Formats: sequence, structure tokens, C-alpha cells
Amino acid sequence: MRVLPDPDRAPPDRFGRRLHDLRISVTDRCNFRCVYCMPVEVFGRDAAFVPRAELLTYEEMTRLARLFVSLGVEKLRITGGEPLVRRDLHDFVAMLAAIPGVTDLALTTNGSALARLARPLADAGLRRVTVSLDSLDQATFSRMNGIDFPVSRVLEGIDAARDAGLAPVKVNVVVRRGLNDADIVPLARWGRAEGLTVRFIEYMDVGHTNGWKMDDVVGATEILETIGREWPLEPLDRVGPGEVATRWRYADGLGEVGIIASVTRPFCGECTRARISAVGELYTCLFAANGTDLRPLVRGGATDATIRDGIVRAWAGRDDRYSERRSQETEGLPRVEMFAIGG
Ligand code: SAM
Ligand code: SF4
Ligand code: SF4
Repeated sequence: MRVLPDPDRAPPDRFGRRLHDLRISVTDRCNFRCVYCMPVEVFGRDAAFVPRAELLTYEEMTRLARLFVSLGVEKLRITGGEPLVRRDLHDFVAMLAAIPGVTDLALTTNGSALARLARPLADAGLRRVTVSLDSLDQATFSRMNGIDFPVSRVLEGIDAARDAGLAPVKVNVVVRRGLNDADIVPLARWGRAEGLTVRFIEYMDVGHTNGWKMDDVVGATEILETIGREWPLEPLDRVGPGEVATRWRYADGLGEVGIIASVTRPFCGECTRARISAVGELYTCLFAANGTDLRPLVRGGATDATIRDGIVRAWAGRDDRYSERRSQETEGLPRVEMFAIGG
């Protein structure tokens, strides 16, 4: 049977990848100064962020999200910076939840304000939350978050998210050699006991400020061997398009872990993700130098058809595959900072 092109969907990009999920960054601000993202030596405690008037409003972001959904996006994720520092985020969640055709609406957060905000976000229609937490040990967590933030507050946030029905809660751990690699087993043990899926992320060379070195990366193989020595693991199938983690179940049946191995096992071939920065730029890769600025269209009275056209053109011309090309040749190439577009 011949499959006819769907006129409502964005055409595939140059490598045949379909637009399927969208991350929306609501702010570039953050209350943390994680060593691998916004190191305190570079950004200080009161770094200059984008002025409020330049951020897209929730209404403008919702309009863009609706256009992306009309082009084939099914999954939406709110991110940042730290999304929970933007005021009245639940209003935005409610606007996104009302878009027909969205099958998943999730949020990535450092969890610092989740104890207070999980309930209103869930009530507004948020379905799932991913919390970043790099250690259960206070001294290590303080070194990772750069501001001495109490781990107990993040744990309270995770509990609040579960109580509010934002399940299953996933926990993201960026592993940086010499800082928190000794925490892999304690975090896995905790995940097993709490029924949480912990996902270990290889430290990536995003942006230009974190001083990334390959030596600081703890690769997927080493992470899996470290966990597997304690509790044998068995591979699981991926859940579907847009899922970047490989999944492993504990052979004794006590849950699963995930690995996001963008450095040692790149997955560009399956990357169906677009990102919008808080100022309305469309990025088709986490490692891109520039985005397609949609804000002049959004603020300049462009019709939906014109904006849709801009998105389609950007996606159709997409040839990003940075992680597969990562080598000396890509070293030093200009790249956007992670907090500007979300993970
Ligand atoms: N502030 C929120 C948070 O930390 O969850 C959302 C934005 S943060 C940029 C999104 C994700 O990117 C987090 O899980 C964070 O740990 C991850 N991340 C940031 N810098 C990274 C790096 N250099 N390598 C790997 N993951 C990174
Ligand atoms: Fe903030 Fe998230 Fe970046 Fe940490 S990873 S500095 S919490 S934006
Ligand atoms: Fe997608 Fe770019 Fe990451 Fe490859 S490097 S998986 S294209 S975001």
C-alpha cells in the first residue's frame, strides 16, 4: 500500500526524521548554578539574564505550541533555565493542556520549588515531571548545584509530585567523574526502594562555559557495569519515538533504570525533537549555534500560515547530527548554552 504524505504534518528533515516532540523553555533564569550547566565561577549568583519583556508571553508560547502540534508534535515538555522560577507557570500548563492532540505534557525541573507547586501544576493538567537530582549526599549535591541547596527540599518536592499524581516521576542524574560517580549505586538503590526510574546522563559538551573534557565523562558502559555488579540488569525495548534513554530492568523485578548516552552512544538518527528558547528561537539541535527567530513573526502580526511555513522550512532543512560527528572537528564550534534552550 502506498502511504500518501500527510499535508498537515511537517515533512521529514534531511535525514528522514519526523518532528514529534517539542521542548519549550519558559525562562533562561535559574536559582541553581550546576557545575555542568551554569558554573558559579562564570555566572556568579546574580548573572544577567534576558529582560522580562523579551521573553515570549505564555499566550505567544501557546500559539507556537499549537502550530507545532498542527505539524505533528504530540509530546510537549516545559523546561528552562529553571521553569518553576517563572511566575504562574500553572496558567501556562493549563493553556498547553487545552491544545487538542497533545498526548503528553511534562516538565523538567531542579525540584527546588516542587513541594509548593506540584499540586497546582497537576491541577492545571500537567501529567508528568522529571526531577534533576545528582546526589543524595548533601556535600556532593552542594558541589553539583553550586548554591548549597538542601537535598531534603528536592526530596520533599519529589514526594509532593507523587502525591499530586504526577507519576511516574523520573529522576535525571548527570554523572561527572570525580564529583558524583560514587553516587551511582546509592542513587540506583534509592530508586529501587522508592519505585522511581533513575536515568543517568552522560556529561555533555553543551555550551562553552562548563570546561567539558572527555575525561570527565562517565560512559554508559561504565555506569551499567557499576550498577550491574550490584543488581544484574536486562535490556528493555524503547518506548517510542522521541525517547532518548535506553531502558534496563533489574533482573530481580525491582524496577528499571535509564541511560542517556549522548556522548558514547549517540542517537541523532532518532532525534525527533525541536526546542523553543524563552525568547522564541527555534533550535533543531541542542548543539546548534543559532536558532530560527520566530519572535519577529509572532510579535509582528504574522498569520498562523506564515509562522507554520517558517517552522516547516527550518525542520525540512535540518541536517543536525552533532553527537554523531563529535570529534576534534566539532571542538570549539559555537554552541548555544544549555540553560538558554533547556535540556
Ligand atoms: N533546570 C531544570 C533542571 O535542571 O532539570 C531544567 C533545565 S536543565 C538545562 C535540563 C536538564 O539538562 C537537566 O536534567 C540537567 O541535569 C541537564 N543538563 C544540563 N547541563 C548538562 C550537561 N552538561 N550534560 C548533561 N546534561 C546536562
Ligand atoms: Fe539550572 Fe537546570 Fe542548569 Fe542546573 S541544569 S543550572 S538547575 S538550568
Ligand atoms: Fe538531536 Fe542534536 Fe542531540 Fe543529535 S546532537 S541527538 S541531532 S539534539
